[in-house]
Amino acid sequence: MEPENNIYEYDAEFRDVISTVDAEGKRVWVYPKKPKGYFHRARAVVAVFLLSLFFLVPFIKVDGHPFFLFNVFERKFIIFGAAFWPQDFILFALAFIAFVVFIVLFTVIFGRFWCGWACPQTVFMEMVFRKIEYWIEGDAPQQRKLDKAPWTQEKILKKTSKHIIFLLISLLIAHTAMAYLIGIDEVREIVTKSPMENLSGFIGLLAFTAIFYGVFARFREQACTTVCPYGRFQGVFLDKKSIVVAYDWLRGEKRGKLKKNATPPADQGDCIDCKLCVHVCPTGIDIRNGTQLECVNCTACIDVCDEVMDKVNKPKGLIRYTSEEQIQHGHSKIFNTRSVAYSVVLVVILGLLTTLLATRTDVEATMLRVPGMLYQKTDNGEIQNLYNVKFINKTFSDVSLELKLENFSDGTIERVGGEPIKIGPNDLTDAMFFVRIPQAEIHTTKTELEVGVYHDGELMVVEKTNFLGPIVLKK
Ligand code: SF4
Ligand code: SF4
Repeated sequence: MEPENNIYEYDAEFRDVISTVDAEGKRVWVYPKKPKGYFHRARAVVAVFLLSLFFLVPFIKVDGHPFFLFNVFERKFIIFGAAFWPQDFILFALAFIAFVVFIVLFTVIFGRFWCGWACPQTVFMEMVFRKIEYWIEGDAPQQRKLDKAPWTQEKILKKTSKHIIFLLISLLIAHTAMAYLIGIDEVREIVTKSPMENLSGFIGLLAFTAIFYGVFARFREQACTTVCPYGRFQGVFLDKKSIVVAYDWLRGEKRGKLKKNATPPADQGDCIDCKLCVHVCPTGIDIRNGTQLECVNCTACIDVCDEVMDKVNKPKGLIRYTSEEQIQHGHSKIFNTRSVAYSVVLVVILGLLTTLLATRTDVEATMLRVPGMLYQKTDNGEIQNLYNVKFINKTFSDVSLELKLENFSDGTIERVGGEPIKIGPNDLTDAMFFVRIPQAEIHTTKTELEVGVYHDGELMVVEKTNFLGPIVLKK
């Protein structure tokens, strides 16, 4: 290996072990040093904004309807105030593909920026739960000491109060998450009524609370290092041009302690091997070993190293946002063939998605001939087929609909029973219809039928189906 590439000189075996598991396979509890500094303050501002959004959005209503709702149980979805149904599957699929391509593109260029700044796991863990822990139990050394100490009154008080607060916050997160699923009004009903009146909702809330409490009180960084699929894909997404939290090994090596009143050797780099970057890391890794999948780009090591560099009168940025290529060669291009290709794919998908959204109708109809039914001949020489039509009203008001045959002016379409078609807000309904067409106009056994769905005289959508007729013998 080229000497300049040898960034693993000191800990070549670090990839053989997980920093949070000991030789016996037991978990090593991480006590990260309390972070502070420029990046931590910036992340705290972003976290306050994101947390406010998370907790406030379920309360936002547009014309009495939720702004966002992901009701997977009843398969009703409201996004930015517009109702979507499972029938909008193609939109969901495209939006999902666009999201995945965006994540890949973003990761190729900016690494795990999302993990450190916006991932709910990091935001809640580092900006809410960990802060409460520091507040009650103190910084890492005090926490270690408290855990080793016998169960005194002080320890019982600190541990109990911490876990009660953790539980209350988990309860709040669970209620908010549930509000995204079933709506804030339903959650209010579950909370204000007896659990027996809505047992499934009550159990759901308890389960959510237990999961959040378990993740933030015990599981912690393991969610990022062993469960999160996004972290597992880093090896595929990242390349030497990706911007990540990186240690400048060219500047830092050869690392060595600073000794009082002694001149450091000529080959000593800027890293004074204080290991503060390791002590502050919430996933327990040493960033000096290079980019690792456990690194959630939380920036804590940047802040702490900058502070150290200030103290030893060296320039900041020994650990910084940069790419391996930038460190090695002093320059790097953000866009390369791979990122340009992803960008083109993303633009195409977004274009398609925008077109589909722009042409999406407020009412949807699916028209199918009733299975097993053949055509019938009426007394006045018409051919009749029976259809089942499913209507979906994607608006938040009642709609009255009317059906017309678009390609047979002499034909008729009539609802069985003759009732008008009315659908409630954000609802669906089924109805049976007879379609009758003069036999003279039927020339094949299977004729394409176009049925227009009208609301207040305005054509909403044209549904196509087949109309069966008798065999026509050629003369
Ligand atoms: S904090 Fe900076 S100086 Fe200290 S060990 Fe880490 S990289 Fe080296
Ligand atoms: S290596 Fe640095 S940026 Fe990565 S998780 Fe640890 S402290 Fe955060």
